[in-house]
Amino acid sequence: MKGLGEILVEMGVIDEAMLELAVKEAESIGRSIEEVLVLGFFVPEDAVAKASAAVFDCRLVDLSQVSFSEDLVNSFTPQDVEKFIYLGAVPFEVSEKSVKFAAAKLGLEVRMQLEKYVRRRFGKELELFVAPRSQVEKALNDYFLRTGFSSAIERYVSEALEYEKQAAGVNAAVPLLLDALLTEAVYSRATDLHLVADSFSVRHFLRIDGLIRYIRSFPVKIWPRISSAVKQRSGMDPGDRIHVQDGHFTFIPGTGLRRVNVRVSAIPTADEGESIVMRILDESRVSFRLPALGFFSEDLAFVYQILEKPHGLILVTGPTGSGKTTTLYSILQHLRPHSRSVLTIEDPVEYNLPFVRQVQVNRRAGRIPAQILRSFLRHDPDVILVGEIRDRETAEVAMQAAETGHLVLSTLHTNDAPSAVIRLKDMGIDPISIASTLRLVIAQRLVRVLCPHCKKQEPPESWERAYLKEASFDLELVYHERGCELCSGQGFIGRTVVYELIGFSEADYEVLRRAKSVQDVVDAAKEKGYKPLRFCGLKKVSEGVTTVGEVMRVCG
Ligand SMILES: [Zn+2]
Repeated sequence: MKGLGEILVEMGVIDEAMLELAVKEAESIGRSIEEVLVLGFFVPEDAVAKASAAVFDCRLVDLSQVSFSEDLVNSFTPQDVEKFIYLGAVPFEVSEKSVKFAAAKLGLEVRMQLEKYVRRRFGKELELFVAPRSQVEKALNDYFLRTGFSSAIERYVSEALEYEKQAAGVNAAVPLLLDALLTEAVYSRATDLHLVADSFSVRHFLRIDGLIRYIRSFPVKIWPRISSAVKQRSGMDPGDRIHVQDGHFTFIPGTGLRRVNVRVSAIPTADEGESIVMRILDESRVSFRLPALGFFSEDLAFVYQILEKPHGLILVTGPTGSGKTTTLYSILQHLRPHSRSVLTIEDPVEYNLPFVRQVQVNRRAGRIPAQILRSFLRHDPDVILVGEIRDRETAEVAMQAAETGHLVLSTLHTNDAPSAVIRLKDMGIDPISIASTLRLVIAQRLVRVLCPHCKKQEPPESWERAYLKEASFDLELVYHERGCELCSGQGFIGRTVVYELIGFSEADYEVLRRAKSVQDVVDAAKEKGYKPLRFCGLKKVSEGVTTVGEVMRVCG
């Protein structure tokens, strides 16, 4: 029988070298190959699902195509649902003789437990399927947990109030409440959890797909307890509600199948209020694969071609929250860090990458980017990632590294790709260095992706027509968002990149050296087929991926 690893090699997900490494590592550290591949190597979950279906001779199910009827959902109690969370499995069909389950992580243990459960609870046979973990969790979230979470949270709140009424020294309900809030946030794919307290109430918001949503409110009476519980967990001073504080902690949500890093920021506000934001960095949710980010295949091929070269500077630009880090990390993954020496200097290190030596900037400890970069050069690197080029010194060392045979990746805060060249010059960088190192600039934004279940094709409105016309697009029909149950009424699910890119080669040496204004760079780039950000956005509109409104929102 073929193992998971061999099948993943056949599928082209990992290479032989990686498998060999995984096998050795699994033996030496006492973990299964599956765990090493998933948790250590970030192998994408859909690939793992497909491969484990082959290994265990199970069928694969696409849960996004399954309709969960009310009857089905109602035939399970909250205790049943707890078991589903524990096993990472979800029921999707009950028939006369059997119950169909989709499991995220197969294994004898899961199969045995589910078989026992189905037989005892329903007197039926188990039919076991495999599905990607995110689908299993989404189905659990969408159909089984929503009421589960709300009722659990309500229960913890009233218990917490009860503790307060009795003036208990310890409020045992608050940590449970916090766990439930975090688990709910992780399951609903939120990137940030906001708790905003004033003298009137505590409001709870989640940022999902880039937009803030109000979730619920809590009585302000329990706020001091919640506030100090969060702070305690994140290594802050729990009693201090006067100063701005930062911290972080690691959280393992319901399924126990993954680890989430939480970065916390607490800010005192007027009227004895306080605002706490928890940024949720879910390492398992992001697979850092270039093909998954939304680049068009011809552009991807172009990027790959540039990455073939062993040295040079590659820049990704865009405002905060435009997905620059994800793109850079995906480039690193593409570069097969298990067979190269890869070093990064980041502020902060947001995700841990396998085989990459990541260094966190710490100004107080004297770990500043330019200085670490210099030590990197003595550390036998092939690839260096500099989180952001902010000052001349950092830029100069980065260029020096790129000039001396290393591949250097970084970000710059410019709105478009051509400006990156001029920004470097404005920083005082020698134009000759720029001309001899700069190989690629990608400027990007993120737009929301239309929900495929409810998007609606219509003739463009007059403002859309005007925007399209200005960019020389002529579309008879465009898609508009509508909102359905599957997208929680938002009309959008997930995000994709909208980008522009310019590649430079030896032939552009003079252009780069001489360029004095952004327009100079644009003119040169246009000759090579450069298309601005907006063009890419509208191309995605024409393909029904997003709306004109979204492109306008992020590209202006
Ligand atoms: Zn929808």
